Parts: sequence; C-alpha cells; structure tokens
Amino acid sequence: MFGPFRNEPLSDFSDPQNKAAMENALGHIEAEAKSARPHPLIIGGKPLKTAETFQTFNPSNPQQALGAFAKAGAADARLAIAAAEKAFPAWAAEPMQKRAEILRRAAELMRKYKFELSAVMTLEGGKNWVEADADTAEAIDFCEYYARDALNWAAGMAVSYYPGERNETFYAPLGVISVIPPWNFPCAILTGMTVAALVTGNTVCLKPSSETPLIGWKVAQILFEAGVPAGVLNFVPGPGATCGEELVVNPRVRAICFTGSKEVGLGIVEKAAKHQPGQKWIKRVVAEMGGKDTLIVDETADLDKAAMAAVTSAFGYQGQKCSACSRVVIVEDVYEKFVEKLLTHAGNITVGPVVDPGNYMGPVINAASLKKVLEYVAIGRKTAKVIHGGAKLELDGGYFVEPTIVDRVKPGSPLDQEEIFGPVLSLLRARDFDHALALANATEFGLTGGLISTSRERIERARREFFVGNLYVNRKITGALVGVQPFGGFNMSGTDSKAGGADYLGLFLQAKSYTERF
Ligand code: NAD
Repeated sequence: MFGPFRNEPLSDFSDPQNKAAMENALGHIEAEAKSARPHPLIIGGKPLKTAETFQTFNPSNPQQALGAFAKAGAADARLAIAAAEKAFPAWAAEPMQKRAEILRRAAELMRKYKFELSAVMTLEGGKNWVEADADTAEAIDFCEYYARDALNWAAGMAVSYYPGERNETFYAPLGVISVIPPWNFPCAILTGMTVAALVTGNTVCLKPSSETPLIGWKVAQILFEAGVPAGVLNFVPGPGATCGEELVVNPRVRAICFTGSKEVGLGIVEKAAKHQPGQKWIKRVVAEMGGKDTLIVDETADLDKAAMAAVTSAFGYQGQKCSACSRVVIVEDVYEKFVEKLLTHAGNITVGPVVDPGNYMGPVINAASLKKVLEYVAIGRKTAKVIHGGAKLELDGGYFVEPTIVDRVKPGSPLDQEEIFGPVLSLLRARDFDHALALANATEFGLTGGLISTSRERIERARREFFVGNLYVNRKITGALVGVQPFGGFNMSGTDSKAGGADYLGLFLQAKSYTERF
C-alpha cells in the first residue's frame, strides 16, 4: 500500500530558489538544444535512426530550434507494434504491485526533474511558468493516482458465493495500445494516458504530437529510468497521417487512447471500427476531443468573481485548453456592468515571450494556429463586434496575438459554435437564466461549463441540466485536479471517459470470470 493520494503542490515562483531553479532549467534546455544530435525512435529498447528527421521550435521565437527528431513512418510504427506485441506476455504477467511501483518511481523522478520538464514546456509549448509547472504537477498526479488505483483493480470484481465452486472475476490487460496525445498538455495528458495503459499490464506505442516531441522524449526517458522494460514502451514520434494512421489501423493494435481534435478523433473512431484482415478483436477507442466551453453569468452573480473567472478561463495558456472558456452567456440585466469589469481584467493581461515570467500570455502554438485565430477575429469583425484585442503582435517573430473579446455574437454563428483553440472569447446576451442555459447547451460539444450565480435554485438546475462532463459553479472552468475533478466530456467532446477518476483504468482492462469446481 502506498498511503493516501495527495495532489502535487504547485511551485511558488516568488520564492527566489524556485525562480533560480526555473531560470537554470531554461538555460539548460536551451544549451542542450544547441548540442543535441537528433533524438532517435526507441523501439524494443533500442535507439533507431530514420532517413528523415524533423525539428521542434520555440513558438515565442520560431528561429530557435529545440531539437531534431527521427521521423517515424508507417513501417517504423509496424516495428514498434511488433516490439510491443513481443513484450506483452511477460509484462502482462507481472503483478500489478510491481507495475504500480514503477509509476511511483516515475513520479519521484518527475519531482527530481520538475523544473526541467516545465522549462521544456515553456520553450516548446509556449506555456508560462505557472501553467508549465501545473502541467508537470498533473503528470506527477497521474502517476501517483493510477499507481494507487491499480491496486484496487488488482482485487478484481466482487462475485457471489456458489456452493461447490471457486468463483472469481479478475481484470486482464488488453494488449498493444497506441497512445496518441495532443500538444496542449504535452506532459500531463501524454503521461496520464501512457501510464494508465502501462500500469494495467498493456504495452504501448507512444506517438507524441509533432509540435511537442521533446517533452514526450523526456517523459519516455523518465519512464525507462523508472524501470519500464524494453519493448513495453516504444517511442515513435512522427506525422499523424503516416505513423499515427498505422497505429490506428494495424490489426495487431488492441486499443487506441487518443486525445485531440474532434476531426481527428472521429476519423480514428471510424478507422478503428473497420475490421482488418487477421484482426481478432473489436478495437477499443478512448477518444477525448474538443470543446466549446461556456460560462453563464446571471443577474444574481458577483460580477467581479464572474469577470475574473471568465478572463482566467478564456486566456490562460492563450485559450489553448480543451476546457478554456470560449463563450460567456450573460443575462441582459447585468450585461453592460459585467462587460465593463471583463474589459478591465482583460486589459491587465501581459503578452510576450514566456521565458519572462512577467508575461501571462505567450504565443499560440504555431503559424497555422495564429492564422486560424486571425480568421476567426475577421469573422468576428464582420458578423459581430470586436471590443478588445484582435491584433497580431510582432514580437521576435513569435506567434503572438492579443487576448480578444467579441461582443454581440449571434447564436448559431461560427464564433458561437466552433472550437477556435486560441484567445478569442465570444459574448452572448440572454433574456434570462432559462435562455442562458439553452444557449449554453446549444452546442455539439459538452466538455466543461460554469455558472456564476448566487441563486441556489439556479445552481441546482445547472447541476442537473447543464450538459457537460465537468461543471464548475462560482469559479473558473479550467484546472481540473486529478482525483478531485475526474476529467472528460459528453457528446462530441469524447467517449465519456474520466481521466484522473476511479473508473479510468477499467478502460485498459477486460474482466475474466474464472470458475473451478471443487
Ligand atoms: P489533433 O487532433 O490535431 O492531434 C492530436 C494527435 O493526433 C497528435 O498526436 C497528432 O499527431 C495525431 N494525429 C493527427 N492526425 C492523425 C491521424 N490521421 N491518425 C492518427 N493520429 C493522428 O489535436 P491537437 O491540435 O494536438 O490538440 C488540440 C485538440 O485537442 C483540441 O481540439 C482540444 O480541445 C483537444 N483536447 C481535448 C482534451 C480532452 O480532454 N477532451 C484535452 C486536451 C486537448
């Protein structure tokens, strides 16, 4: 037994020691980037070079390359799957306790390398120090939480007594699992999906996002250092269209654990459903997808609290969280007052390179994302009214854009319906609370949502009727904690799973009933 689970505390950067540690780590990663040779694939425990390589860059300063990576194609993915298949029987036969101990060692190593991991995310992902630190802390939480929870699953399912027989139902791993994470929580989500698959006895082919392979590499190194055997984890960075595709369609893959966009997720669900020659199972797909997350502010709300919650949820990490607030629906009695406070808070946001801890908002992840954000701003100018921000910022050639607020967004319009995944916040006016709730629910997504209100009756109604996987009342709608707010959405936001919750590991297991007559 490991003792009770506790969330990893966040680093206090007003402490000069922590500040110095982060500065050192940033310097270390920058120096390492200059000297490093291309990072190889890791298949069956062996480093493997590829003919083609690709680079990872700093979105605050795209001139700065942070490392080269071997580029896995479909053939490399097949090698990784074969290695994972070979390693599966021995790993599956290990006791759960032993695998759980490896996760706890990984958590310990992540603590040891905490600032280094966070520095990679600041440089490669454009996360400010606090966001990067929270991402690392969440990765540690996943290791600690799933290590403990695995022991609950090891106890099996309770079954009834039947005379003359020994009956039990226990949980068995699935086999080879493809883990395909996004770039936006490149440490936490990548770690969570990978260690959940590993601790339950599966073997893994991990394909990090091509935007953030360096943090994927660092996590894989930590897992190997913690004791994950050769072939049990295979590291194959490469394009979604080739490497990712093979990890989905290959008949030897038993399950796919994906987090990313709705478009890619639905494609994976469709391809995984197709029976391939020689395939002996129905592939399981865990797909966590996008959101169009909404905060409702009613006329009873504390408007300072509401404005603060909206700004933090909309512009933290440049709005690039699946949980980010992208719409606020305001009951019209308090509309003007709320907007005034919202603009004051938004006006205090600093934007710039995130190596400087004074900058709250950094760059968006890449040029395509910047273009997409600016296209939505243009739609906002045409169909509604941009009342704050909206401009690209010319800083070191980085992908910076101002925090943007668009007023009078029409229900059903692109700004009301589509996931932008950038710092663009839409405002909608509602006649009353009923109308606000209807507008909030009028989306195909159902990930996070929030209500700022002092009315008990409305809070209870939101609890029942606001159709999202994670609902928050009188606070920000981002920042779910492992074990505290199990995370995952409804409808087009995913397959209804809850990462960091007590039923998550069940997605990586199958129950076997055993009967022995005396
Ligand atoms: P994405 O869908 O573009 O990519 C996700 C991963 O899929 C990447 O590793 C990518 O290389 C891979 N991929 C792309 N095409 C593929 C294919 N054809 N076959 C197999 N793999 C393929 O998403 P992204 O831009 O990395 O991440 C942002 C998205 O993720 C947003 O929509 C966001 O809402 C969502 N997200 C959801 C959650 C959640 O918990 N619901 C959490 C984080 C991010």
